[in-house]
This record gives sequence, C-alpha cells and structure tokens, in this order.
Amino acid sequence: MARRILTGDRPTGPLHLGHYVGSLQNRVKLQNEYETYVLIADVQALTDNFEHPENLAANIYEVALDYLAVGLDPAKVRIVVQSMVPELAELTIYFMNLVTVATLERNPTVKEEIKQRNFTKGVPVGFWSYPISQAADITIFKADLVPVGEDQLPMIEQAREIVRRFNRLYGKVLIEPRAMLGAMARLPGTDGGAKMSKSVGNCIYLGDAPAMVRKRVMSMYTDPKRIHPTDPGTVEGNPVFTYHDVFNPDKAEIDELKARYRAGAVGDVEVKQRLFEALEAFLEPIRARRAEFAAHPGRVNEIIMEGTRQGRALAQATMAEVRTAMKIAYKFE
Ligand code: ATP
Ligand code: MG
Repeated sequence: MARRILTGDRPTGPLHLGHYVGSLQNRVKLQNEYETYVLIADVQALTDNFEHPENLAANIYEVALDYLAVGLDPAKVRIVVQSMVPELAELTIYFMNLVTVATLERNPTVKEEIKQRNFTKGVPVGFWSYPISQAADITIFKADLVPVGEDQLPMIEQAREIVRRFNRLYGKVLIEPRAMLGAMARLPGTDGGAKMSKSVGNCIYLGDAPAMVRKRVMSMYTDPKRIHPTDPGTVEGNPVFTYHDVFNPDKAEIDELKARYRAGAVGDVEVKQRLFEALEAFLEPIRARRAEFAAHPGRVNEIIMEGTRQGRALAQATMAEVRTAMKIAYKFE
C-alpha cells in the first residue's frame, strides 16, 4: 500500500513559525514520497470558537495560502476541508464507544489547553473530546505517518489506542499511525511562553510583512534579569537565541553573539536585529510565493475544492469498509 501522510491545522488564524518547524517543513520534504492529505480542521476549530464561526471561511483560505506559500505542491498534496467530509463525524461517533471518560480526562494537552482557554460556561463536550474526532481524521485517510508538533503526541497515542481496539473488535480495517516530530518539536512564543500558538497571539506569522516581523522581533521577551547591555546575559531558554538556533543558518554568527551576550558585550537590539535579518531571508521567498497565489484566488479555491473532493472519496471508501466490518452495512431489501 502507498505510504500516506495525514496531518492538519486548525483555521484559527494564519500559520506561524511554529507550524513551519513543527510540521510544515516535514510535509514539504515528504510530499514526493508520501501520498499526502492535509486537513484544514474547521470542525475542531469550532470546538473553542463556536460562538464566532464567522471567521472560519477566511481563515481556511489563509491557511491554504500558507501551505502553497511554503511549497506544498497542489499537484501532489490534497488540501481537505474537514467539515466538507461529513463521514468524519460518523466515524467519530463510532469511535466514541471505544474511549472511556477517564482516558479523555487524562489527556495532558487537552488539560493544558482547557486551562489556557478559561471556558466561562464549563468545558464544551466537543472540545474535551476532540482527540476522538482527531483520531477519526487520521484513520479515515488510512494514514501511517502524521507530522506534528510535540503537543500533538497524546492525540496520536489516542488514535493508536482506538485503532488497536477497533481492529481487535471488528477486524483489521484501520492503520495504526506514527507521529513524526519536526526539527523543533515545540517552538516557544515571542513572549517566552512554552509554545507559539495562534490562540495565545505570541506568534510571528509566515505572511507577516517585514515591518510587522521587525516589530514582533524587537518586542520579544529576552533575559528578564538583564537591564543593561553590559550585564552578562543568559542564552539558555532565551527565545531570541532559540530562534537564532532554528532560523539563522550562520552558526559562526550565532556563536559570536552568544559569547558576547554571556559576557555582557552586546545589546539586545543588535541580537534582535540580526535575528530579524535571518528571519527575513527565510520569510522573503515564502512571502513572494504567497503573493503569487493570492493574486489568483480562483485557482486557490479550485485547489481546495479538488483536494476536498479527493479526500472525501477516500473517506467514503474507508467508511464502507468500516460499516461492513462493524456489521452495520445493512441492506434491507
Ligand atoms: P491553536 O492555538 O488554535 O491551537 P496552534 O498555533 O496550536 O493553534 P494548530 O493548528 O493547533 O496551531 O497546530 C497545527 C500543527 O502545528 C500541529 O501539528 C501542532 O503540533 C503544530 N504546532 C503548532 N504550534 C507549534 C509550535 N509552537 N511548535 C511546534 N509545532 C507547533
Ligand atoms: Mg493547537
């Protein structure tokens, strides 16, 4: 069988540097070897944005543009809109029987996200149970590889458990997926927070204009104990240096800046200026490709619709097998 990738993103905003090093980079690298499906998970985005669904359509379009901008080739990769594959909802319902409440309550990422989101009217069942619908996302496409950031590891583990349970009960229909972490499994936020995240707003977006990138870099969190450029600074855990390590290809320059920073011989402004330059070298070609596609919105929409059509056909084929295996493919004739 063809090796297959399924991964995706929530259309809660445009994509950022964290997405790139966590997952997009691997998708681009593997798109020639793997049959790749990329899901724009609008149903999952609704679980914590159901009061404001009006932004989803625009965000779906922006995320698709980001995919094309980083080099996902529409001739090879299918971009699929989750809500347009209703078979996913059906599989989610069947999977709900295979997961206990206690298991859901132990999911460390969901626990953390619940804390972060501060749901005032209690945690919606949809949000709390999204690992189950995510397991349906992965398995309906029969993916064996899922390029994701570290926060998603509990979701892949959950999907694997469901597949084992399903296959034991009903017969071997589904594939147990493997996670693949990116070059940087969890990129910190510009605020020094543990994870750059759309919902937190501590991001540098792939489509940001140069002036915005500069502004975000210049206001980045650094070593809080360092008041003057002559104070010795800490490099470890300092997000400015973490970004240098990830995005600046000039390792000699990084070593020199680190040495001077530790010695109190360089100001934050210079370190940030060099980071800005490195980020610009990385973002410039992405921005240019983004502009090319953005000039042809009709073409982008076609890519989304064609990918979704192909994704849905695959999902329907899997569901036929699922229903047969579960002995619910009734024919009352
Ligand atoms: P939200 O705040 O709405 O959850 P997000 O920024 O976490 O948005 P997602 O759409 O949830 O983005 O994540 C899509 C993919 O990108 C996942 O595989 C996730 O692990 C990865 N990812 C997101 N942020 C980072 C990050 N800071 N570092 C590494 N990978 C990341
Ligand atoms: Mg997320």
